[in-house]
Amino acid sequence: MDIHEYQAKEILSRFGVTVPSGGLAYSPEQAAYRARELGGNRWIVKAQVHAGGRGKAGGVKLCNSEHEIQDATNDMFGRKLVTHQTGPEGKGIYRVYVESAVDFNREIYLGFVLDRTSQRVMIVASSEGGMEIEDISANKPESIVRSTVEPAVGLQEFQAREIAFALGIPNSLTQQMVRTLQGCYRAFRELDATMVEINPLVITADNRILALDAKMTFDSNALFRHPQVSELRDKSQEDPREARAADRGLAYIGLTGNIGCIVNGAGLAMATMDTIKLAGGEPANFLDIGGGATPERVAKAFRLVMSDENVQAILVNIFAGINRCDWVAEGVVQALKANPVDVPVIVRLAGTNVEEGQKILAQSGLPIIRAGSLMEAAERAVGAWKNDQKQNTKMRAI
Ligand code: GDP
Ligand code: MN
Repeated sequence: MDIHEYQAKEILSRFGVTVPSGGLAYSPEQAAYRARELGGNRWIVKAQVHAGGRGKAGGVKLCNSEHEIQDATNDMFGRKLVTHQTGPEGKGIYRVYVESAVDFNREIYLGFVLDRTSQRVMIVASSEGGMEIEDISANKPESIVRSTVEPAVGLQEFQAREIAFALGIPNSLTQQMVRTLQGCYRAFRELDATMVEINPLVITADNRILALDAKMTFDSNALFRHPQVSELRDKSQEDPREARAADRGLAYIGLTGNIGCIVNGAGLAMATMDTIKLAGGEPANFLDIGGGATPERVAKAFRLVMSDENVQAILVNIFAGINRCDWVAEGVVQALKANPVDVPVIVRLAGTNVEEGQKILAQSGLPIIRAGSLMEAAERAVGAWKNDQKQNTKMRAI
């Protein structure tokens, strides 16, 4: 789960990272008021969206008066900000963050990520901040410092000092840099983050280390033990289909094709999508109903898939190990009886209680297309979607 910059800054400052003073606003008037509260005569107004690259896309503006703040935020509110990270549809701007502008001499990149190879938290830093890390690694790879943290002891002071030296931080600021690094690491560990990024971390004209930007991502599977983090969720920044699914405990990824997929298990979902593509179709989504799918869950999954108007056929592919085919079949039948759908439904069942499952589908009287293998299911789904209504009707009768 992602959070906003202002939220990440608030969290990190609790862990000892220094951030500029700022205030959140939900309207241009409030933004101007925040500037007055902060005092001074130069402010940075920043669109709060769950994406980086805002600066280049017009989401970060330097303002020299309250009037300029009103103008800048008038242009931002309600608009979709399209950055290289949002995709073409962009992300809506409903909050802006107003900060006192800061003069700085140097920009540093600082990132904490999970390194799968070493199975450790890895610190990635560069003296070339301000650019995206992808550009740094393409253009200035020699500037990148990497350091993995030994989980048993955490980020030690000597290790943090080594990173500060490698970045060329002046001696007078080493201690502050150590505090910043250790603070980020503790926030990462204690809150089950999967990413902490400060870009840029700057050395100010008055010789302080300050996080001008902050980004944090959290492990969704660990949110249950961090209610203070999970309440920071902002659904306006999520794909509405994915948000609805997450609220119902289903794993859903929205895609752009026409065939809805209801599957149990992420690996099977991948295989199902590959097979649909092989058969010449495009998946509309990836919906994982999980291991212990009850009829209620299957019914929820159908409602969710059907709420996507691009869906023109539904493929249910279940391999029942822990699950039971008869439960899933019961769920499919219940769901279709309660909410009949006007698109072809193809069901492939395999594993535990498959005969009982097939019987339930066959006796339901519903126009469900049954398939034996995954390839057959995919071909039928693609065929059903491509063919005209007449052919569909013929296939439904099979
Ligand atoms: P991003 O583009 O989404 O990563 O947004 P950032 O928060 O990183 O802002 C983009 C750029 O604006 C930064 O790289 C800085 O160069 C600049 N910037 C942000 N805050 C300040 C500030 O207080 N003073 C000055 N001079 N520049 C700032
Ligand atoms: Mn940034």
